[in-house]
Amino acid sequence: SGVRDLLLSRITDVADYPKPGVMFKDITPLLADPKAFGALTDALVALAGQYGATKIVGLEARGFILAAPVAVQAGIGFVPVRKAGKLPGATLLQSYDLEYGSAEIEIHAEALCADDRVMVIDDVLATGGTAAASLELIRRAGAEVAGVAVLMELSFLPGRERLAPTLGDAPLDAL
Ligand code: 5GP
Repeated sequence: SGVRDLLLSRITDVADYPKPGVMFKDITPLLADPKAFGALTDALVALAGQYGATKIVGLEARGFILAAPVAVQAGIGFVPVRKAGKLPGATLLQSYDLEYGSAEIEIHAEALCADDRVMVIDDVLATGGTAAASLELIRRAGAEVAGVAVLMELSFLPGRERLAPTLGDAPLDAL
């Protein structure tokens, strides 16, 4: 579609970043183009409506940038999932495996309530580890996962398969 082509045209490939052999998808040209950023925001707001979302969770750090205008435009609250040690209040913590080692993310324990339907937004689904851990956090915080939306799914990696058991019946949309 036109939106897909516009978004693709504003994402650039950076070879060997952050380490040799990795082709990094850089979204900063998209963020710098208000037409593309606006089209992305509109598409995500439409998905929030489809999901019946009552909260938007953004994943640090690029997920924050994409999720914040969606929350404002949809008229629902924004909740950050952060790398461990950054949130001031009582938190829930989730560890997950990386290629080498592990990572930890947190959410404020009181940020969600039992009747919340949560939409998760991030820029890139790669291995799916970050998204899967964030879904665990949302459920441990007592809320329901309404859906996961990413700008890009790296379909040469098994992220969708890794996420599937955690996702359950919730949708995963890649724009
Ligand atoms: P995963 O946990 O799915 O392996 O990695 C996803 C996380 O890493 C996302 O939060 C995303 O921001 C980041 N990420 C991984 N690869 C890329 C990439 O090529 N481009 C961008 N912009 N982010 C990436």
